[in-house]
Amino acid sequence: MKQKLAQIGLIVVIVIALGFVVKQLKPKQYGGYERMLVDVKANKVFIVKVKAGEAMEFPTVSPYSEGKNAYPVLKCMKDGTIFAFEEPMYAPSGEGAADMPPVEAVPVCPVCGGYEITVVDMPEGQKSMDVPGPVQVVKPGKIQ
Ligand SMILES: [Zn+2]
Repeated sequence: MKQKLAQIGLIVVIVIALGFVVKQLKPKQYGGYERMLVDVKANKVFIVKVKAGEAMEFPTVSPYSEGKNAYPVLKCMKDGTIFAFEEPMYAPSGEGAADMPPVEAVPVCPVCGGYEITVVDMPEGQKSMDVPGPVQVVKPGKIQ
């Protein structure tokens, strides 16, 4: 009986060790990066995996609502407002496009108009979280 318990214990240890190894290897399967988006219809911030070299167009599809309602999410450092930013596409096309550096559009807080913008903190281990709505969509504005 005692021997059997020891065997079970050993198997459990091996299974945990294997799980750990698999977990460590997993990120390498994605040749990309993670982006945090907000679904302005479902009021949900979530993480998506983006393949390297894959262009994203916004708004994009969200798993939390029908249609294209997801935008990159930003947060105002001053008042904590979470808002969506309609990121401009930087796909160079046409004549002379490659010579032109992309015009950096500056996201501005829709509440206070501040430029002090940060990323949203996602609680450790979570892939999505609810945010108070309605989430405003900020369009790339003119640089002042
Ligand atoms: Zn603000």
